[in-house]
This record gives sequence, C-alpha cells and structure tokens, in this order.
Amino acid sequence: MHVTAIIAAGGRGARFGGAVPKQLVALGGQPILQRSVEAFVMHPRITDIVVALPSELAAEVPVYLKSRHKSIEIVEGGERRQDSVARAFARVPSSADIVIIHDAARPFVSGALIERTIDAALAHGAAIAALAATDTVKRADDRRVVVDTLPRGDIFLAQTPQAFRTSVLRDALASTVAATESTDESALVERSGHKVHIVDGDPRNLKITTADDIAIAEGLARGLGEKTSVELPTLRIGNGYDLHRLVTGRRLVLGGVVIPFDKGLAGHSDADAVCHAVTDAVLGAAGAGDIGRHFPDTDPAWKDADSIALLARAAKIVALAGYTVINVDVVVIAERPKLAPHADAMRANVARALGIAPGQVSVKGKTNEGVGSVGAGESIAVHAVALIART
Ligand code: MG
Repeated sequence: MHVTAIIAAGGRGARFGGAVPKQLVALGGQPILQRSVEAFVMHPRITDIVVALPSELAAEVPVYLKSRHKSIEIVEGGERRQDSVARAFARVPSSADIVIIHDAARPFVSGALIERTIDAALAHGAAIAALAATDTVKRADDRRVVVDTLPRGDIFLAQTPQAFRTSVLRDALASTVAATESTDESALVERSGHKVHIVDGDPRNLKITTADDIAIAEGLARGLGEKTSVELPTLRIGNGYDLHRLVTGRRLVLGGVVIPFDKGLAGHSDADAVCHAVTDAVLGAAGAGDIGRHFPDTDPAWKDADSIALLARAAKIVALAGYTVINVDVVVIAERPKLAPHADAMRANVARALGIAPGQVSVKGKTNEGVGSVGAGESIAVHAVALIART
C-alpha cells in the first residue's frame, strides 16, 4: 500500500501578520511546519511526502525538511490553495494508492487521526476529518442580522487530513470545478460527484490562523507533555575548522579580504578558510550539517563562488532553522603574512554576510611558532566558534 502525503504550506498567512511566516513560528521550540511534516515522516502508513511551500521558502528549504527516513519532495506553491495542491499532486508517484492532504497550519495532527482518515479513504474512496458542531449555528445577512438557525446535528466543521483514492483526487483536480476557488480538496471532490465520508476529527487538531492562536497552541504543546520553548535551552554553540595549503599563483582571500602576499590558498572557489570555518561553525550550531553538504565541491554551481556568498547562504539556512547568530570568534593561524592590519575588514565582511554587527565578530591572528606545516608557511589553518539563539 503506497500512501503519499501532501503538506499544503503554500500560503503566506495574510491573516497572521508578523515578520516571520506563520509556518516558521516555533511552538515549544519547534517550527509549526516541522511539527506538521514530522507527524507524517514518523507515521508508518506514509510512504513519501510532497510539501508545497511559498517560493521564498522553496528557494531555501529548511534543513528539517531533508529527512533521511522518507523521500520529501518540495514544490513551489501556487496562487490559490488548490493550485499548490495540484502542483504537489503532479509529483505524486503513479504507484500511490492513496493521497492524504494536510494543512501545515495544523501541527497537532495525531497518528490515530492520520490512520482513520486513510482507512476511511480506502473503504469509501474519499474521507475527511471533521468535528460535529457543538455551538448553535446561525446564518446571518450582510448586516449581521440572524436569518436562520441551522439544525446543529447536520453541521460538521471540516479539518485536515483529507484522504482520497489517487484516481478520485485526479478526477477532481482535472474537472472544470477545479476552476472555482475552494478552501479544501473535499469541496472539489464533492462537486465532481464523489461521496466524501466523515471521520471523527480531533479538537486538539487546531488550525493556527491568527497570532492569538499561537498562545492557545503553546498551551496545547504543554498539555501534550512537551517541553515549552521556555524550558528548552535557547542557546547553542558550534565549532568550525579549516586548513588550506599555501601555493604560488593564487590570491590570498581571508574573510572576504584580498590580502597582498606572494602566495594564496589552494582549493575550490576562493579557498577562503575564514569563511569556510565560520560557515561550519554556524551550521554546526544549528545542527544543520556542514559546508560540504550544502555546497558540495562536485557541484559546478559553487565552483567559482565567493565564499563570503556561501557564508551568507549558510546564515539564511540557520535563520530558517529558527536561530539568530549571537557572536562568532575566529582564530587564524598563519606564520605569514601579518593579519592584524586586515582583521577589522574581515570582521566587517563576516558580520555583513551573517546579518549582524561587526562588534559581534572577532578575528584574531596567531603564528604556529614555526611548528608543522603552518609554521613552515605551507598552509593556513582557521578555527571558529559561533553562538546562536532560538528566535
Ligand atoms: Mg575550505
């Protein structure tokens, strides 16, 4: 049985406001998007996952969407929700029997709810999670005058997940009804003539729509026995190291500064060992891998890249993982040339790439007292540490 999950995270959260996209707001120290995707990564019935992200997130995919357990495909979301889902559906393997769609804005979906939605879709072709209305439901006119009281027993409030046999969803997305805007996939399936069954939703399967919902969601995260962001350590440290050989015929670039010298560092790109060590330090602090994973030297895209630009990209990766850089401390070990005259220019470049102030960056020079290859002037080594904090 092949079940593909589509996580719809394409929206820009117009009702939410705030500087950080809604999907990236942390609950109990974990971004909403990460929680929603992980529920499906961890679920034994799910084979693979397609995530629709807004373009700015699709360009710099957060590291937690690179699962080693299951394939996670990323697609750029479209204008409307159904466009995002249609783009994601185009990536669903042809072998998929069931497609289960979930809103990234519902981070508390339980394994049991995923399970019963899949089972109902297998039995009936289409199934959604929904809650029976407990409030009395009124219909009002445009002046907010009540015109009708609806029989509550017939009213269900739709949630996600919504699961469909692949052929049923394909029909619905291809039919002309898909031209009209709809706020969930079930509406498309209903209008294309298929019967959609309801399974019991979960009141804790909250949809985070407004900033007020965050406070409720934090309470829920606590109620589910999780640690909150207050209890989790907010600071993390990372360490980076790099060494390059000194050779003739190359420019010496350190911290983005071209330093006059009769030799330069050998290596891929500009071989800027300061940027490489700082890149590894900030990535390491965020638990986001290392420079070789994000910018492999086998990839022609990075062949002549400025290392300062790679550092700026690493800073984005760290920001997307939910962290901000507090400070960076660098030690450059070189027998020659003298680095002190260039330290401030290096600090300014590294700070700019990280989006922090020069005062948050320190660059110190040292010799190796004539010992080893560094001492013999054959190489330059760099150590860096970075401190980051959860945003
Ligand atoms: Mg290097």
